[in-house]
Amino acid sequence: MTTKAEKKGKAYLIGAGPGDPGLITVRGRDILKKAEVIIYDYLAGKKLLEYVPKDAEFIYAGKKGGVKHTHTQEEINQMLVDRVQAGKFVVRLKGGDPFIFGRGGEELEELVKAGLDFEAVPGVTSASAAATFAGVPITHRKYTSSVAFITGHEDPNRTESRVAWDKISTGVGTLVFYMGIKNLPSITANLIKHGRDPQTPVAIVRWASMPYQRSIVGTLENIAELVQEQGIKPPALTIVGDVVRYRDSLNWYEVRPLFGKRIVVTRTREQASELVSLLEENGATCLEHATISIEPPDSWQEADKAIDQLGDFDWVVFTSINAIHSFFRRLKERGLDSRQMHGCRIAAVGRVTADCLTSYGLHADLVPDKFTGEGLVEALVETGVNGNTILIPRALEARKVLENGLSEAGAKVSIAPVYQNLPPVAEGKKLREEIEAGEIDMVTFTSSSTAHNFVSMMACKDNVELEKLLDGVLIAAIGPITAKTVQEYNLRVDVQPDTYTIPAMVDAIVDHAMNS
Ligand code: SAH
Repeated sequence: MTTKAEKKGKAYLIGAGPGDPGLITVRGRDILKKAEVIIYDYLAGKKLLEYVPKDAEFIYAGKKGGVKHTHTQEEINQMLVDRVQAGKFVVRLKGGDPFIFGRGGEELEELVKAGLDFEAVPGVTSASAAATFAGVPITHRKYTSSVAFITGHEDPNRTESRVAWDKISTGVGTLVFYMGIKNLPSITANLIKHGRDPQTPVAIVRWASMPYQRSIVGTLENIAELVQEQGIKPPALTIVGDVVRYRDSLNWYEVRPLFGKRIVVTRTREQASELVSLLEENGATCLEHATISIEPPDSWQEADKAIDQLGDFDWVVFTSINAIHSFFRRLKERGLDSRQMHGCRIAAVGRVTADCLTSYGLHADLVPDKFTGEGLVEALVETGVNGNTILIPRALEARKVLENGLSEAGAKVSIAPVYQNLPPVAEGKKLREEIEAGEIDMVTFTSSSTAHNFVSMMACKDNVELEKLLDGVLIAAIGPITAKTVQEYNLRVDVQPDTYTIPAMVDAIVDHAMNS
């Protein structure tokens, strides 16, 4: 019996679209944000998983080109049913549209059998995306008024084929084959055998809508050979029909200036998103790398001691949002909350820090006019800190301006390290491997510190090793100071804009790509 308090589970079958995370529907994205369980496929863009709450259960259902099945279809069906029965909000995320060669129907049937609730959200199917991103209008008044989506998984030479080859060969204008790369020789032979003109143009599009999309064009007669020669592998679609001729004039995606270029963006919180979005608009693939990783301190001893006597401090001073988040995380871990700070006055170095405090229900008593350590000292000293006890929760390594200034004014300052900045070792190693494998075209630096951090991430034993590592990788620097830092490591700056802004830097990168 269902009681009122018992939560009823529900499944949401969602189309992820063809790969570009921007091509999921708004409805699909909204549902992802509420998932408690997510079961996703190989072709459902990984980036979409970032919308899913971190504490959800993530289940990779696999199915790469039918070769390496992580779970059988029966297991997937069962997982889906079990989770919904357990009262969960379950998202089943599938590449493209779930009902187009996606077994979406089969999975929903299982839910129906078990008497469970579900909803389905369509997605942009890869055929439509491949055509659009290859510059092929899938229908066109002049050439075709019909289109068919066909599975190429089935060998046309099978005697009891479920595809009516005799009818589709000439009866439909545009033919799009999913999963047809392996069987391409027999597919094309069969279409010709059943009357389609051997000169009919054919486009093959691999990884449609992705930055590494690749497409080739041929005819029914020669495309199988071209695919073989050029080593095109799944996932790819085959588009057959006169509409493919439009590609000559409508190809827009693969001709963007930075298409196919892989560019490293060393991240500082504020700048990365603008740089990444402008580079991507020009067709680049960006590899975003944080050059610093915020980690807990080696020991909580000092911080815990301060937390135990928190109410006794006259002031608690916050100089960064990292300090705020780390400090309150520790309070929470110790079963405490911001009430522990009653009686203390609170100072924040600037507006952003003060705003961050409000999310913990706290109002900063003091924010200096000048948002710097020096400004903060000045403002605090003005309140008359002589004899006050002041706690500064902050990074393990930090400038001493604040503690020195306050001590000089007669305050008793306690430092509580609540986090430390470490170079991200694992990320650095991975990036280095990609550079060594020749997979990176360019590294961008938007400040001297991103350059220093990048170099320390590469962990080279000296500048000679660094120079060798980056041989063949272009370097872009936003302005002369950053460029000087790069040159001090004996590295060459290939791109540098005249004005020191992100849009100017992207323009300079585009110019460089077009002229080289
Ligand atoms: N439900 C999916 C299709 C799944 S069948 C959809 O609606 O798109 C798997 C096949 O889809 C692959 O073998 C390939 O032919 C095609 N496919 C899926 N995503 C693709 C992509 N980004 N680029 C090219 N082909 C793709």
